[in-house]
Amino acid sequence: MTFTGAFHRIAPHVQVTTLEPHAVNVGLVVGSKRAALIDAGSNPSQGRELLDLARREAGVPVTHVVVTHAHHDHWFGVGGMTDIVAIAHEDLLADPEEEVADAAAAIGLEELPEPNETLSLVKGLELGGVRLEILHFGPAHTRTDLFVIVPDEDVIFVGDVIESAGDPCFSAVSNLDGWPKVIDAVLGSSTEATRFVPGHGDVVDRDFVFRQRAQIAMVRGTVEQLVGRGVACEEALGAAQWPFSEQTMATLLPLAYREVQAAGVRRRLPLV
Ligand SMILES: [Zn+2]
Repeated sequence: MTFTGAFHRIAPHVQVTTLEPHAVNVGLVVGSKRAALIDAGSNPSQGRELLDLARREAGVPVTHVVVTHAHHDHWFGVGGMTDIVAIAHEDLLADPEEEVADAAAAIGLEELPEPNETLSLVKGLELGGVRLEILHFGPAHTRTDLFVIVPDEDVIFVGDVIESAGDPCFSAVSNLDGWPKVIDAVLGSSTEATRFVPGHGDVVDRDFVFRQRAQIAMVRGTVEQLVGRGVACEEALGAAQWPFSEQTMATLLPLAYREVQAAGVRRRLPLV
């Protein structure tokens, strides 16, 4: 078995299970007519197993799976799912990052699983007495982050834009300038009682999301100051207090420097 446990209920119509490897949270939202999964697991056989479990659990047809973003542990399970509509951001397959290509090669996946329906901004999904709002607020953790809001249950699936199992995960496709703005948009869709289901880790509350937003914004702001003072990227780790581990910062600082310096060049262009 690849599961760490069965689905457990976090709201009347919302259940969550956690898949290994990578401890990925997967949601199951069940209406009176149909049900939908949020994320699909790391590989096709896990996706097949997950869908079987969801179909036994739901008691109604599981007709849709929403892919929160283009990282393999949330997406590749779609390849093992049949008779289901996979919904993803329209750029899911565009310009795959190294992580995706490496993960596909590691399991011998020759073709990346394709979504059946895509969106650029927003899409609603009626399950029978329960409605999902699926939204893209711009680039953050990746270019294809989707949020799944279950308004009647006050639950929001946030993919890896929020992470409670450890530091957020930053990569070459992350957008540090956009990330806090995206979290602001998610917070604007929430209430004081909203529960946020991250891609990895425990369900969190609004305060946690505010704190993580501040930490990400602080990194970008501090790097802007360091660049302004002429502090090199190699010196940055010891030049300020950082909210994340040394290991995370070792990946994040070069990305932040590149982004801030690129933005600086753009700002200067009209002056030359
Ligand atoms: Zn991710």
